[in-house]
Amino acid sequence: MTNNQNMGRVAGKAAWVTGGGSGIGRATAIALAAEGARVAVTDIDGEKAHKTAVEMRKKGYSTLSFQLDVTDENQWQKGIELVLTEWGQLDILVNNAGISVAQSITDMNLAQWRQVMSVNLDGVFLGTKYGIIGMKRGKGGSIINVSSASGFKAAPGASAYSTSKAGVRLFSKCAALEAAQTEPRIRVNTVLPGGVMTPMWSSMEGWEIWKEQAGTEAELWNKLAENTPLKRFAKPEEIALAILYLASDESQFVTGAELVIDGGFTA
Ligand code: NAD
Repeated sequence: MTNNQNMGRVAGKAAWVTGGGSGIGRATAIALAAEGARVAVTDIDGEKAHKTAVEMRKKGYSTLSFQLDVTDENQWQKGIELVLTEWGQLDILVNNAGISVAQSITDMNLAQWRQVMSVNLDGVFLGTKYGIIGMKRGKGGSIINVSSASGFKAAPGASAYSTSKAGVRLFSKCAALEAAQTEPRIRVNTVLPGGVMTPMWSSMEGWEIWKEQAGTEAELWNKLAENTPLKRFAKPEEIALAILYLASDESQFVTGAELVIDGGFTA
């Protein structure tokens, strides 16, 4: 036990965050650990997951990390066994890993479409499946699936991403109802972030050119946020705080719900 594990909003709980090597996943892993949880950090890029875990250990947090591709069922089976063997329980699972593609329907090939569906939808299905199986062996728990404001509101070039994220919303509601039938101590909810300042954007092809056109990176973020009523994108930590609420017992009566954190974008 480290010093923070006896107190905090998720004290004593065992958590798992997918796509924890970057952006929202990294911020969520840190936020959960800061509030007392032990956190498994996984990512398709094992090095990035490891880096987040090293950063957390430096703060005295209890963590483990391993490589996991959310689209691979075999890896989920092994991963859940690893977490349960290590910690004896799984109380919180954040299905955060996701990818985006900006492509018109006529220019998109089937492989691109399927890749987005595979990571964003298959990954959430598998995570929820093994999360529920793992949580049934313990004291129940909370699953948080990361959808998007794009799963709510259409945009040109976003057909694959938006469709996958809309799927996450309905899938999560079905999962919440199924879990409630057999194990009411398991809750499933979604978060719908609007624009968030993460590498999902800054690693896009064309980012450097847009930055040059805008002047500075700060100006580019401001330009991207023009249609957001609060006139800015979120910091990853702001999404992590919403996830923390759904992960904690503060939200014990919340299941099948959607929490929008988008600066008013979908309003
Ligand atoms: P990010 O690119 O910074 O991080 C995503 C992480 O997921 C990366 O570390 C990546 O390696 C990992 N990943 C990709 N494919 C994977 C796979 N098959 N298996 C396991 N890990 C994989 O992106 P982010 O902005 O932090 O996005 C996190 C989630 O939030 C995604 O589901 C995304 O769709 C969603 N989201 C992001 C925004 C935004 O504006 N950034 C808005 C709404 C929703």
